[in-house]
Amino acid sequence: MRILVVEDDALLVEGLTAALTRAGHAVQEARTGRHADLLLRTEDYDLVVLDIGLPDIDGFEVLRRLRARRATTSVLVLTARDAVEDRVHGLDLGADDYLTKPFSVTELEARVRALLRRSVAPPACWSVAGLVVDVAAKRVRVHDKPVELTPREWALLELFLARPNRVLSKDQIAESLFAIEEGLSPNAIEVYVSRLRTKIESAGVHIRTVRGFGYMWEGGNE
Ligand code: CA
Repeated sequence: MRILVVEDDALLVEGLTAALTRAGHAVQEARTGRHADLLLRTEDYDLVVLDIGLPDIDGFEVLRRLRARRATTSVLVLTARDAVEDRVHGLDLGADDYLTKPFSVTELEARVRALLRRSVAPPACWSVAGLVVDVAAKRVRVHDKPVELTPREWALLELFLARPNRVLSKDQIAESLFAIEEGLSPNAIEVYVSRLRTKIESAGVHIRTVRGFGYMWEGGNE
């Protein structure tokens, strides 16, 4: 896969490039926001590892411009420790996930693998751990027992299946459920997610809560 690493810290950028190259990726580097913006306009990447604090235009602006062009490239944002607002802002602007500095190379590699996996479209029949989802027939089985889902729970499940390992904001979730019910409040979404969780969690799948923002389906779609 082609990955662009955007980071002005020389040591960090070398470490990231070495690790991702070892993992078999073709890696390019940009040490300023403007260079990153230029490369993103002229080259195709599967994933961008994007630092927020850059010497000229910051990572938020690079991300904003990328999403303004409707690019679907996956973006993993790097933020300073405890900068909760940066994480939320990054996700609002369309980042797919974030890592808080300092992080281990192993953690970075795991996040990158997860993000690259999610670009695969969900198959007609989907199975992970004890969960089997027949997308066409809209049937769900947990440890081989049929589970009944309401239309809202099914819509939610479909949304998660289509975007595994990707953080979804409550707004994004509300938008995709609007077809079923208008004017959904964030509280209502919490209720639906928790009902869906209760029905399928014994299968060993996990819907992670991203506090103050939304949810992420963990487990891929293989
Ligand atoms: Ca930096």
